[in-house]
Amino acid sequence: MSVIIQGALEQEFAALSRLVGNTPLLGIQCRFHGRLRTIYAKCEQMNLTGSIKDRMALHILKQAYARGELHTGDTIAEATSGNTGISFAALGRALGHPVTIFMPDWMSRERKDLIRSYGAEIVPVSKEQGGFLGSIRMAEKFAVSHNDVFLPRQFSNEANVEAHAIGTGPEIWAQLDSIGVKAHAFVAGVGTGGTVMGVAGFARAQDARVRIHPVEPAESPTLSTGHRVGKHRIQGISDEFIPALVDLASLDEIITVHDGDSILMAQKLASTLGLAVGISSGCNFLAALLAQDKLGSDAVVVTVFADDNKKYLSTDLMREEPERDDYLTPEVELHGITTAGRVCAFCDGPITSSASCN
Ligand code: PMP
Repeated sequence: MSVIIQGALEQEFAALSRLVGNTPLLGIQCRFHGRLRTIYAKCEQMNLTGSIKDRMALHILKQAYARGELHTGDTIAEATSGNTGISFAALGRALGHPVTIFMPDWMSRERKDLIRSYGAEIVPVSKEQGGFLGSIRMAEKFAVSHNDVFLPRQFSNEANVEAHAIGTGPEIWAQLDSIGVKAHAFVAGVGTGGTVMGVAGFARAQDARVRIHPVEPAESPTLSTGHRVGKHRIQGISDEFIPALVDLASLDEIITVHDGDSILMAQKLASTLGLAVGISSGCNFLAALLAQDKLGSDAVVVTVFADDNKKYLSTDLMREEPERDDYLTPEVELHGITTAGRVCAFCDGPITSSASCN
């Protein structure tokens, strides 16, 4: 549906839209399994609050206003493992809303501090209170017991998928197109599934043969099993259930990556190429290499760097991670980066079909 918002609100959304999306696409040159390759990665750590979740938060708020589901002064309440809370806190406060975030109490200290720094309130939820699923239940109860609460419901809100179908996907295709390249595969770790389902929708409409692989941690393969299996350290993906937005039957095989391997890869991207990314980005990069292995080392495989490393300063990402024989990172040699996509003469940013700088 088209979004019609007018007046001052329209201007605020227009300003915020300039700070979200339209991110650079990097070609990361490397050697893996003895072959020189390129993996394309969309730098989502460059969004307003440093993660890909800004895209869906902005689009959900815009849609909710346009549909009359969100009004000036309403409280925005959401259950989240972190990045979503940071995005709704920043964008919600920017639009003048009180924001309450329900989140498992074991999430990194930086995430909680960041949410509070934007002026949002956090309700920590313990394992005994139900952990992640408990957070969702508590947010729903909060909306029933308080007046004027808007629940974005990121796990089931189609606007989450749409944000990637109208933003992330078209941007990737336009950026690749500008260097004369077509994507063969897209891989992404699944949190809500918004990224993988949204890009899948756009990609398949361009070329039905594009492979779309969801990614999950080997330590807790929720997608493969349908429920919470074990603990893992890749914050932001594989929560405790298969989200309503995810239609596994429409996707290609699930790719599995170890959490320790993801940590080592994220560390290597930072220390070798200056790409200070979070753990799920290390995971996505390794999954992209595995997807490329199936298709051939010349295949064009795209993924996302979902966030940066600043939210993980107190986690294992900053500690020495032991290598294991079955890890892939020790076999990855990183050589350098190129940018994919034209550069705007005004802002030096990439020119894509979803946004232009004029
Ligand atoms: N990586 C990180 C760090 C995240 O915070 C998220 C969102 N939970 C994802 C990946 C997965 O994104 P999505 O919710 O679109 O599946």
